[in-house]
Amino acid sequence: MQHKSYSLKNFRDVAQINSLPEELITEIKIAGSVFPFKANNYITEQLINWNNIPDDPIFTATFPTRKMLQGKDYAKIKALFESGAPADAIKEAVDEIRLRLNPHPAGQLEYNTPFFEGQNLAGVQHKYPQTVLLFPEQGQSCHAYCTFCFRWPQFAQMPDYKISSPVNGLFKKYLEAHPSITDVLITGGDPMIMKTKIVERYIEPLLDPELSHIKNIRIGTRALSSWPYRFTTDDDADDLLRLFSRITKSGKHLAFMANVTHPVELQTEAVKKAICRVQEAGAVIRTQAPLLNNINASPEIWAKNWEMQVSLNMVPYYMFIARDTGAWHHFSVPLVKAWQIFKQAYQSVSGICRTVRGPSMSCLPGKVMITGVDQAENEKFFVLQMLQARNPDWVLKPFYASWDEKATWYDELKPAFGQDKFFFSDELDEMLKSSAK
Ligand SMILES: *Cc1c(COP(=O)(O)O)cnc(C)c1O
Ligand code: SF4
Repeated sequence: MQHKSYSLKNFRDVAQINSLPEELITEIKIAGSVFPFKANNYITEQLINWNNIPDDPIFTATFPTRKMLQGKDYAKIKALFESGAPADAIKEAVDEIRLRLNPHPAGQLEYNTPFFEGQNLAGVQHKYPQTVLLFPEQGQSCHAYCTFCFRWPQFAQMPDYKISSPVNGLFKKYLEAHPSITDVLITGGDPMIMKTKIVERYIEPLLDPELSHIKNIRIGTRALSSWPYRFTTDDDADDLLRLFSRITKSGKHLAFMANVTHPVELQTEAVKKAICRVQEAGAVIRTQAPLLNNINASPEIWAKNWEMQVSLNMVPYYMFIARDTGAWHHFSVPLVKAWQIFKQAYQSVSGICRTVRGPSMSCLPGKVMITGVDQAENEKFFVLQMLQARNPDWVLKPFYASWDEKATWYDELKPAFGQDKFFFSDELDEMLKSSAK
C-alpha cells in the first residue's frame, strides 16, 4: 500500500470522502491546534468505521475533537479562529493551554536521565535496574498520533520537552559499565518510523561481544496497529526483517512491545501478515495498551483483545492506566472502575491470556498495580503493589490507600488506616533529592 499521511492541512480529503459534517471538521481543526494530529490511509481506509462517527474507537483514538479540551479552552481557541486572530495570538493561547496539561508527567526528565562521565545521557532513561530506555532522535515521531498520547509534547513543537538521543558511543560505554543491565528498550515516539539503515545504527552496537550481558532487545512500537506495511511492503521492510533475524540468531531475545489499543487493530489481512513476518524473524510480540474511556473501557473489549492476541501467537503483557497528561479528563477511567474492568476481563479468559498484568500506573516511585479493592472494619481501601520500583526492595510489597471512587491517578490516593505516608515515601523523597538536577 502506498503511504498517504494526513495532517490538519489535508485531512479535508478524507473528511469529504467520508461525509464528515462541517461542524466536526471545525472541531478537529480547533482541537488539532492544541493536540498533535497525524493520520494515514491505512487507518482511515481499513480501521475506522465511518458509519460509526463520532463514537468509533479508532476515530476517537486518531482525530482530536471538542471534548478533548475543557469547554472554556475550546471556546477561547474557537473565538480566536473566528475573529481571524493572527497566528502568534493563537499560538500564545495554545501554548498557555498546553502548559496546563501536565506535559511531562512522572518526572521523566528530572529523575531518570543517567549522569555518566561528566554528562547527562540525553535521550536515555534508566529508572529500573535491569532496563534502560533509549529514545533515538530519528524515532521521535509516529506513523499516526494517538489522541491519548502521553508523549504528545514531543510532537507539538514544545522543544523543551523533547527527549532524544543521537547515535553515540557514550551510550554503549554506559552499558558496558553496567553489567546488571539486561534489557535495552528502544522507544519513542515509534522507533519503527525510522528507516532500517538508521535502526541498524542503534541496534548493531548492541550485538557486539562487549555487550553480551544485554540479553533482551525490546522495541516499543505501534506500527503493527498504525502501519503494518512497515513489515511487509515498505521499501526496506525486508532489510528490517533481516535485521530482526540477525538479532535473534545472535542469541538475544527480540521483544516486540506492541501497542494494541483495540481488537479492531488485529483484524485486517495486512496486520496478520505483518505479525507473521515479525514472528518468523524470531521475535516474540508482547502487547500493551492504556485503558481509555471512550475507546476501550469495557471488559468485553479487553477480553476479546487478549484472546485475539493469543490466537495470533502474541503475549498479553500490560494494561496501563492512562497517564495524567494531555486530554486526560476525556480518556481517564477511575481506578476503581479500571480494576473492575481488568478483573472482569481477566476472569473471563483462559489462563493462557493471563500473562497480562495490570492495571498499572507508571508513576514516580515505580509501576503501581491496583491489586484489588477490599474492606476491613468499616474501612474500604485499595490494595496496591509495585511491579517495578526505583528501589527493587519495594516490588510486590502490598500497600494500602483509602477508598476513593473518583481517583484516577496515583497522586490522588491517600494512605489508608490513618497513616500519613506510604512505606516508601521517605526513601523516595531522599532518592529524588539526591538525583534531581
Ligand atoms: C515500564 C518501564 C520499563 C520496563 O518495565 P518492565 O516491567 O520490565 O516491562 C522500564 N523503564 C521504564 C522507565 C518504564 O516505565
Ligand atoms: S504511538 Fe505512542 S508515542 Fe506515538 S502517538 Fe501513540 S501513544 Fe504517542
